[in-house]
Amino acid sequence: MKGYDATGGGGREAFLNYIGGQWIGARSGKTAASINPATGDVLGVVPASGPEDVEAAVQAAAGAYQSWRKVPAPRRAEILFRVAERLVGRKEELARLMTQEMGKILTEARGDVQEAIDMGYFIAGEGRRLHGYTAPSEMPNKAAYCRRAPLGVVGIITPWNFPMAIPSWKIFPALVCGNTVVFKPASYTPLLALKFVELFEEAGLPPGVLNIVTGVGSTVGDALVAHPSVRVVSFTGSTETGLRLAEACGRLGKRISLEMGGKNAAIVLPDADLSFATDALIWSAFGTSGQRCTACSRIIVHEAVRSELTQRLAARTRALRLGDGLLPETDVGPVVSDVQLERIHEYVEIGQKEGARLVTGGGRARGGALDKGSFYTPTIFDQVRPEMRIAREEIFGPVVVLMEARSLDEAVAIVNESSYGLSASIFTRDIGAAMRAIDDIDTGIVYVNHGTIGAEVHLPFGGTKQTGNGHREGGVQVLDVFSEWKAVYIDYSGRLQRAQIDRD
Ligand code: NAP
Repeated sequence: MKGYDATGGGGREAFLNYIGGQWIGARSGKTAASINPATGDVLGVVPASGPEDVEAAVQAAAGAYQSWRKVPAPRRAEILFRVAERLVGRKEELARLMTQEMGKILTEARGDVQEAIDMGYFIAGEGRRLHGYTAPSEMPNKAAYCRRAPLGVVGIITPWNFPMAIPSWKIFPALVCGNTVVFKPASYTPLLALKFVELFEEAGLPPGVLNIVTGVGSTVGDALVAHPSVRVVSFTGSTETGLRLAEACGRLGKRISLEMGGKNAAIVLPDADLSFATDALIWSAFGTSGQRCTACSRIIVHEAVRSELTQRLAARTRALRLGDGLLPETDVGPVVSDVQLERIHEYVEIGQKEGARLVTGGGRARGGALDKGSFYTPTIFDQVRPEMRIAREEIFGPVVVLMEARSLDEAVAIVNESSYGLSASIFTRDIGAAMRAIDDIDTGIVYVNHGTIGAEVHLPFGGTKQTGNGHREGGVQVLDVFSEWKAVYIDYSGRLQRAQIDRD
């Protein structure tokens, strides 16, 4: 095996798609490079696939489906368990590659791989549950129960910011339910995805059950979504792309699960421990260079502590050390690319034009090794009003805005003004205020005395409003995305019994 054949041009490793149990290049022979955003170095080349490669992968998945769905779920789960064990063994290697491929610092990259490990073990356990339930029938001598059934071929499309965790949230549950998969990873992080798929092959997954096709979204992703044999699409990425795919799936009558953007907020009340809140907010706002769907991008602070919190945050932010995430002294790595960096900077300019006050940051970080990569200085705005674009739109970079509120009610109202609804948090020692916030905040995840990031795999993950379309990843709830309910009635009366009609 292996996902690479030799060396690409210039001595770089050339990786391959995995289709029907074979490692194979794009039919067109085209390739694309994966680039380290901290150094500009090319890490490897991958197939720049086209619709014909998607066709081959979907056919392989469709061909493998009938036998895979008949493998008992506990046996399917044993293979997934072995994948999780292999992830444990290769955690450090994969984390280092992740830091190189998309920039997050090594500590966080280890966490990303750990999340995939957690998901593997969690879902492997579900292979022995996949519970349905029995129900009494309204007729005598008749049994009734319901059980889960797989759907067929699943198309999985993922972003680059959690290159191991997010694919694991989708691939493990899709497979344990008995589906087969065609996986299209983000163009910024194909190497991690290919390495992940290798582990399934090593763990003994039969050919065709999991296939990967690398290439750009508008070519590979569109072809995957449109393919008539793909029954379900599971997408994580921007709201713009997700809603477009949802339209296509709607026309085709397909199920689609969407995990999309966020504009996550933290409320800080006057009784909060500001020292610890500062730690948590810095971690939430600038971890992964702010490129988390759950990143804290709005801080809604009570007027009584606004000045003190702003000063604390600014001091801590200015002290953050930018650099290559492989270096132990680095606090914040690069953003994923110069394209992303320019988008972030445009928002900073918009914020200034809108009249927000730039407290710190606000430009490309330069000097020494930083000149080679895509580094943006962690940025804080204050005097931000809820109607400003920087308070409403997802920036997806190391930029956080401070807004003032005079009461808990006003703070909660500002949180809920967002068109997104992924994650929110509140810092307070007042249990009553915390409980009211939990009741009234309209997001899929609420934290108390914790930043907006840090979800655990065995709880449902997802958001309200334009963050999602009602599905959840994580928790047992994810099984609903990848299975269909089948109701079963067994009549052992030996005669015709008519539901709703024979009442005596
Ligand atoms: P994106 O541009 O929407 O891309 C996501 C995935 O969709 C990538 O694999 C992309 O491929 C693919 N894609 C793009 N256009 C497509 C098309 N026309 N048809 C099919 N697939 C297409 O998002 P991103 O920049 O990678 O990720 C950042 C976004 O993801 C942010 O909005 C963030 O909030 C969100 N996110 C949400 C969650 C959550 O759970 N709610 C978690 C993480 C991230 P290419 O890479 O080839 O363009």
